[in-house]
Amino acid sequence: MKCSYHPRYQVTLSPGHPFPMSKYPLLREQLLAEGVLRAGDLVEPEPLDRETLDLVHTAEYLNKLESSGLSAAEQRRLGMPWSDSLWLRSRLASGGTLLAARAALDSGLSGNLAGGTHHAFADHGEGFCVLNDVALAVAKLRVEGAIERAAIIDLDVHQGNGTAAIFEGTDEVFTFSMHGERNYPAAKMRSDLDVALKDGVGDAEYLDSLQRHLPAVLDNAEADIAFYLAGVDVAAGDRYGKLALSEAGIRARDYAVIEAVRGRGIPLVIVLGGGYAATRARTAELHAHAFREAVGYERRSRF
Ligand SMILES: [Zn+2]
Repeated sequence: MKCSYHPRYQVTLSPGHPFPMSKYPLLREQLLAEGVLRAGDLVEPEPLDRETLDLVHTAEYLNKLESSGLSAAEQRRLGMPWSDSLWLRSRLASGGTLLAARAALDSGLSGNLAGGTHHAFADHGEGFCVLNDVALAVAKLRVEGAIERAAIIDLDVHQGNGTAAIFEGTDEVFTFSMHGERNYPAAKMRSDLDVALKDGVGDAEYLDSLQRHLPAVLDNAEADIAFYLAGVDVAAGDRYGKLALSEAGIRARDYAVIEAVRGRGIPLVIVLGGGYAATRARTAELHAHAFREAVGYERRSRF
């Protein structure tokens, strides 16, 4: 399974910052140590160029990012301090999702050990998201004629508000978000299908809801490629999550998506989304499940 990774996915934040930057190298190390990925599976993306960024984001927003950066108010909305390395990281992580999408079209399955920055809108960033990597990959592949239709399966605990807004009215891109009803963002945008869950939902109710909706999502999407935002902030005890999935529940969720998409022969791209467990190592460990399940599924399906 080819996976995009770049050491500069990680940028330095102040010690008390809630975003677990070190989850990226920790996840890479974990997957290599277990043999889920081999060194040759890791591919380094290039930062996306301006021409590609223009496909999704407004010129005004991009000009600001390229020159002065974000104002204090904009940095507060983003939840991160602006820096040149954050700008590079945002373009690299988006490049990683595009690279993974190309690999998935080639081989059926791929991933990015970052990405899923679904709170980025065309004209602004928020919720730790500067650029909308999945929207950029979809837009680029559509412009190139590599795909016509795409499905975005967003199971991060927060609604994919940026993605929903970017693709509202685009019939060729089906956006599905299953998220916490009472969680950020307060003002939800309209996806093609939104499933809002009450606080405290656990494995059984979550998996039941997923199994009820996923077949119809894939039927309606008629997708040439699917993107899975496998956020692990659905886990019990997550700092921001408010849901209560067990580790087994997360594995079952990941498997259900992989089986549904790959069982139909649709190329699948896995991106991380959020995760705010008690430790960074724990966050990385939870993120690893989607890759374990994906590689396991592909190995079994070959026989
Ligand atoms: Zn999230």
